[in-house]
Amino acid sequence: MSGNDIWQELLSGNKRFAEGNPTHPNQSIARRQEMAKGQNPRAAVLACADSRVSPEIVFDQGLGDLFVVRVAGNVVNDPILGSLEYAVEHLGTRLIVVLGHQRCGAVAAACAGGEAPGHIGSLVQALAPAVDKISASEEGRVDWVAKENVRMMAKSLRSCGPILEKWVRQGKLEVAGAFYDLDTGAVEIVE
Ligand SMILES: [Zn+2]
Repeated sequence: MSGNDIWQELLSGNKRFAEGNPTHPNQSIARRQEMAKGQNPRAAVLACADSRVSPEIVFDQGLGDLFVVRVAGNVVNDPILGSLEYAVEHLGTRLIVVLGHQRCGAVAAACAGGEAPGHIGSLVQALAPAVDKISASEEGRVDWVAKENVRMMAKSLRSCGPILEKWVRQGKLEVAGAFYDLDTGAVEIVE
């Protein structure tokens, strides 16, 4: 299956979820036993840690379907990059989805500016390039910044050598950007 075919399947799963008709696939005991022997997840998802944006639920998937990496603000750092590279290089993943979402707390903190306590500053710093791209006077700025951040992270993954860039260049890896609407449950394609 191509990355695009897998993406269409995930979007179908999201449609089931958003409409209240999830099928909860691949969650049986048989599936669990099959997956205990090994995994080859079709897609990797880089999502926000927000408790309302669980990729397996939002895309109506089950055990062994998604390789999920989560961090507030769905930003990329080296351990996350290494995780995604592992999924592509060793597990055969052909699609990476960067999933941002509506009213993201990390993005809101980055937009608010000022001093962030503890290590939260590192998130604010990682989100700063997207914040800088959207004018402070823009209505609904937090959501626009979240979408811009998805675009930027997807772009940086596509061009990240030596592993991801190589698979993209060979046409064996798709990197999609998407935005989850908390109100409707729908995932919108950002790029
Ligand atoms: Zn968030």
